[in-house]
Amino acid sequence: MQVLIADNVSRQCDAVLNAHGIETVRAVGTPRQELLAMLPNYEGMIVRSAVTVDREMIQAMPRMLAIGRAGAGVDNIDVVAATERGILVMNTPGGNTTSAAEHTLAMLMSLLRKIPAANASIRQGKWDRKTFVGTELFGKRVGVLGLGRIGREVASRIASFQAQIVGYDPVLSPEAVRALGLEPTTFQEMVESCQIITIHIPLTAATRGLIGRPELARMPHGSFIINCARGGIVDEAALLEALNSGQIAGAALDVFSTEPPTFPAALMDHPNVVATPHIAASTHEAQERVAVDIAVQMAEFFEGLGARGVVNANGMEDCLMSAARPMMRATRLLGRLLAQLGGPNTSHFNLIAHGPDATQIMQGLEAALLTGVMCQRQSGAVNEINAARIAAAAGITVEAVGEGEHPRYQMLIAAEVVAASDHDGNQDGDEDDGHEGGQSHHAAVTLFGRDDVRLVMLDNLWFDVVLSGVLLLIRGTDRPGALAAMGGALAQQNINISDVSLGRCQDSGDAVTVIRIDGDVSPEALDALRNLPVVQTVKVVRMG
Ligand code: NAD
Repeated sequence: MQVLIADNVSRQCDAVLNAHGIETVRAVGTPRQELLAMLPNYEGMIVRSAVTVDREMIQAMPRMLAIGRAGAGVDNIDVVAATERGILVMNTPGGNTTSAAEHTLAMLMSLLRKIPAANASIRQGKWDRKTFVGTELFGKRVGVLGLGRIGREVASRIASFQAQIVGYDPVLSPEAVRALGLEPTTFQEMVESCQIITIHIPLTAATRGLIGRPELARMPHGSFIINCARGGIVDEAALLEALNSGQIAGAALDVFSTEPPTFPAALMDHPNVVATPHIAASTHEAQERVAVDIAVQMAEFFEGLGARGVVNANGMEDCLMSAARPMMRATRLLGRLLAQLGGPNTSHFNLIAHGPDATQIMQGLEAALLTGVMCQRQSGAVNEINAARIAAAAGITVEAVGEGEHPRYQMLIAAEVVAASDHDGNQDGDEDDGHEGGQSHHAAVTLFGRDDVRLVMLDNLWFDVVLSGVLLLIRGTDRPGALAAMGGALAQQNINISDVSLGRCQDSGDAVTVIRIDGDVSPEALDALRNLPVVQTVKVVRMG
């Protein structure tokens, strides 16, 4: 494994990865074209915020398994493009929380007490005590917008100033906000009533320009705004107008819509603005912490010990652990099998997992089933990270439920493909579909040991056959000599049988024989089988 470190991340990052036997190569400040040329060689990439990992870069990463952001925000990474390519994106959201919260407080107090301007004045040899009359935080109504990691820490620090703190976060109920020691409020009410608003939310399509001209106009006259989250959440042109008019008394900004901004910048030059160059997370402690965190997370992921700080495959953390890999593989094979049985027009699958180990990773099993289905249906790279997205684009849905132990097996993964009513029943054209089109098919797999995936049920008949290679599903008459006739027909074509299992249909007097063969089946061998009087239909499935 090789990891490309493309940003100025602490050397602790290399040390941790190297200790896990992972090679690191540094490409800090490397021109974009050179970086693009390097990308095809790496399984991992680590950045901070200086490098923009866009779609073009992601398309130049055929081997990439994971992109790590040493820090919280991932807006410099095209997560959608990475997900489409099946690349895991991970960050270290907690590593800089304390630093970001402390910087917010530093900015807030600097703004209220005009410390940067007073400091600049005294450096010019002035003793001006009138210009720098400040504002107390004590007793002010302060709105904390966003009560995630940093918002909460900021709120708890402001509490020591005995301000009246209100909080809003759409994912938290009023009770949950109260439990944090804050008064719950709405966004509108926060805007209309708070003398100070401090922003701790991500930049998304929904939050871009969230605080614009109308919101600034509705804030109490002479209010303050602090943004140490992301540039673009506050409309900068509207903020400058509000500062000029005195509607907003001051703003403390660590982040800007364009970084670095174009200088000279009227907003940063404004006397009532305190600005820093996106340094809220820039402490020695935070930089060491995020560098070590991302290295440990990436090493764990490569070693199959799970994935932490996952951005684009939430809920998949447990199934990325090596202990879960056999079940994921078994489910992928099940998806492949059902995609072949159902044919190209099927669009809905049901998944039932039995047993405690399997039911703990339902989201992963669902993704694994879709991976198997989509691998069968398209040629591009599909894995558990991009399968749901690719399947959704193709209109394929899965309903998954977890159940207790199965009466026959400790762990059983069963699935059904619900065939489209217009399905013609023959995927390969030249092969009989042993199970008519327009019907659902059920199958179930279990594991013997770690790697031996067994097909144990097919359309309500019980089997026991290794699910790999090429399988012939032969429906025919259940009578003495039938199996010998099939074996003979294959032997005549020089095809060796590696595994065989028989399922008997009690009511019809038919049997389904699953024959696993070495190599592939020739059209002549298929004809020979079909021509046997004991054979009704033959379906070939190739498990790869
Ligand atoms: P977090 O994910 O823990 O919390 C973000 C919270 O914002 C979530 O609880 C979410 O529900 C909430 N939220 C989303 N949209 C909202 C809305 N419209 N109104 C109210 N709440 C909303 O993230 P965090 O670690 O606390 O980081 C917060 C922000 O700070 C992020 O944008 C992050 O990128 C930024 N940050 C900046 C620096 C810096 O150097 N300036 C450093 C670290 C983090």
